[in-house]
Formats: sequence, C-alpha cells, structure tokens
Amino acid sequence: MTGPATGPVSLGAPDAWADLTGTVVTSLCGVRLLDGTIADLTLAGGTITAVTRAGAGPEATTGRGAATAASGTRDAPGAPGAPGALGALGAVESTGVLDATGWRFVPAASEPHAHLDKALTANRIPPGTGHDLVGAIDAWRSITPTIDAGDITTRARATVGRYLARGITTVRTHVDVHMTGDPLRGVDALVALREQLRGTLTLQVCLLAGEHAPDAVVAEAVDHGIDVIGGCPHLASDPRHETTRMLDLAERTGLPVDLHTDEQTTLDERSGVPDIADLAQQVLARGLIQRVTASHCVRLGSLPPADLAPVLDVVARAGLGIVTLPITNLYLQGWHDTRLIPRGIAPLRAILDAGIDLAAGADNLRDPFNPVGRADPFETTSLLVSAGHLRPEEALAAVTTSARTVLGLPPVGATPGAAADFLLVPDADLGEVIAGGTTARVVVSGGRVVADTRVRSSLDHPALDPTESRPRGATATAPTTTPSSTPTRRPTPIGR
Ligand SMILES: [Zn+2]
Repeated sequence: MTGPATGPVSLGAPDAWADLTGTVVTSLCGVRLLDGTIADLTLAGGTITAVTRAGAGPEATTGRGAATAASGTRDAPGAPGAPGALGALGAVESTGVLDATGWRFVPAASEPHAHLDKALTANRIPPGTGHDLVGAIDAWRSITPTIDAGDITTRARATVGRYLARGITTVRTHVDVHMTGDPLRGVDALVALREQLRGTLTLQVCLLAGEHAPDAVVAEAVDHGIDVIGGCPHLASDPRHETTRMLDLAERTGLPVDLHTDEQTTLDERSGVPDIADLAQQVLARGLIQRVTASHCVRLGSLPPADLAPVLDVVARAGLGIVTLPITNLYLQGWHDTRLIPRGIAPLRAILDAGIDLAAGADNLRDPFNPVGRADPFETTSLLVSAGHLRPEEALAAVTTSARTVLGLPPVGATPGAAADFLLVPDADLGEVIAGGTTARVVVSGGRVVADTRVRSSLDHPALDPTESRPRGATATAPTTTPSSTPTRRPTPIGR
C-alpha cells in the first residue's frame, strides 16, 4: 500500500528515461503558461479547477505556490521538495501531484479533419499515381475493394496512436461510404474504435457521403452511430442540389454538418461563386441551430478582396466554422499550373478578420491524398505560419482552442472550468514550440497522462551538446522513483 504523500514528484527532464502514463494528475506545480507566467494548477474530475499564478492572487500566500511566489524561483535541485528529492513514484499514483518545473503548458490539440479509413495506405498505390484530387480519388477507389473493416481498424488505431503521442486528444475523422462491398464497413470500424478509445481520446465520426450515397444509406449510417453528417458538394454534378440534400439530412437528424467545400483553386464556372456562400445562405434561411463546418475552402484564396468580403460576411453571419488543411491541399493543388503555383490555402487572414472560427489540421496522412505527414499539430502550425502567414499565437489557436470551438467541444486552456486536456512541452519559447522543435511531450487527457514521449540525442563532437536545449530548471533525471519500481533503462553503448 502506498504511504502518505511526501510532496510533488518531478516530471523529469525531456530526455529522461521516464514514463508517467496512467498517472491521474491532481495538481501540476511550477508549470510555465503560454503567457510566460509560472503557475500551479489543480485538477479534479477531468477539469482544471484552479490556477494560481506565482505571486498573484490570495491563494499565493499559502502552500507551494506561495513558496514559488516569495522566492521567485523554484527550489534548487537536491533541496528538500525539489525535483531531485521528491517522493517516490508511488506517491504520484496516490497524490497525482507533479512538479512541472522546466515544462510549458499548451492546451491539447485537435485534428479537426482526418480520414482514418484511408490513413497509411500510401504504399499500396502504384508509384506515379494519385497527385491531384481527382487522381487521388481514383487511386483510392482502385484499392478499396481489397480493404475490409479489420484493415481499417488496424490502420486507424495506429494513426490515432501517433496523434495522441503528439498531443492530439480529439480527432474528427471523415469516413467513406464505400461503392463496393458493405458501404458502411468504414463507419462500423470507426464507430467501434470511438467507443474503444472513449475516456482517452475523443473521436468524432463524420460521414463522407458522395452523391452516389442515397439518403437511405445515410440514414442507416446515422443508425450505426455517426456523429456528424458530411459530404462533398463541390465534387457533385450539381453542387447546390448536393448542399441542399446534406442540409435536409442534417435537419432531419439534428446532427452537426461538416462538408468538404470548394476544394479547388478555381471557381465553378457555372455559378461564379464558391459553394460555401450557398451553404451559408441556406443555413441562414433554414435557421439551422446545429454547428455547420466547411472544410478546405481552397477556392476562397483565389477571390479578389472585393469578391471575398461578401462571401465571408455571409459565412460569419451564418456562424459557420472553417477548417483549413494546409499540408494536404499544398500537395493536391497546383499540379496543372506551370508558374505561380497556387498555395491551395484559404485566405486565413481575411477569415480571422471576419470573425469566423478557424480550425486547422492535416487532413490525410500517408495515403493517396497526402503521401507524407507526421500526425503532429506543430507540423500544421509551422505551415500556417510559413504558407498561411499567421502569427504564432494564431496558428496555435487554430489547432487547439479554436479547433475545439469548431468541433463543438468544451474549451481547453489554463483556466478554471476548462477540460483537463493539455500537453507539456520543454519550456521553450512559443516560436520554438509551434515550429515543432519540441519533440518531447507529456500528454494529459481528462486529467490522466495518456502519452509520454522523451527524446535523447547524442552528438559525437565536443563542441556540440544536445543537452544545451534542455529547458530551464529541468534536471537530467527521471521522475524520482523507488529503485525497485522503475528500471533505469540506459542503453549499452555499442562499439565503445
Ligand atoms: Zn477530407
């Protein structure tokens, strides 16, 4: 039986041999928040219940927060109560009090638009096929007859593991209605996975019903447990009719809507306006109360400002959220242009200026639509800055707080009442974080550590020291544990 708690247990260093998965965190001490302040957080029932900033607020006059506030620094390593002299791992299990000195708090990330049924199939299509959107669809459809529910489950599970390890605790996946075999085998596989992962990762299953999927099959998918109605009007023979059909189905079922929208760089010559404008006008006319999302919206990037403004105005008035997916659309668009290749990204600055909720994700992962990708929210933030020209804090919001808004989920962040979903990264500046330079991560979902990734590097030159990037205040030790309970898994050097 675990003895009485003796105090916080150090999170350990980013390059420590450590594994805190399974720890239920009740308190997080000395963590740096995004605004640069040091704070102590209290967690209960999957929620952050209190945030005490060092040196601020009446609660800073008592307890550990007061010590931090009074001294302005954390305890020195080795001193009583310091990271090097804290309680055993058993105390973590008992008290859940972690000292996160040297780590930075980041709200949990979301992947607002994935295709788990397609993920990790890039090596199944012939080399040289795929590329643009139409080619990728053809390549995908050529292999779907060989794909069963078990195959989908195996790849989806592997993909979700990558997301979770990198700080993504919520995923919205779109799923095809198959044209051969059981049309809903993907739905069934992903709905079952959603239930299996409940409590660790939130999975929303959104139907991707092309115009070939009749209303009866969509209704059947609803009965099978999908969370969101979705389709792709821009690929239909009559986009307006398909948008109307999708919204009819949403009205009938009461489910939220998420449509692939305007995933081309050129306007539909028939209408002269992007499909999202029609979607927004229909949402307003119907008075839909469920959340409606438009994913991709690449065409908006080709509109002159004078034409774009009224479109974004009606989108804002309709309360639509927009999901931008830079890595996949940078890959899929522009294959047929020979100069001034379009970026394939929605006009992000104008969208934010219009007051529209903006989420960002990666879309496909290692499949015919995107042969690369790291399942990493900071890969997306990097592209939002380099290709989308967002500021670092805007890019981070698009994969964290704003993404949750678009997905209709409770907020995350270091505020009382927020969901206890966050990741801890080495205490680097925000630019380093969103550049993806901080590969070590400890991920907390619902107040429990669900992933713990530490990274060690060795460089064979006396002038180069990988530990120079170690965060301030962090020691090179693992969380303090009883010798018998945790092995020190140091590798044996080879050839030395
Ligand atoms: Zn998609």
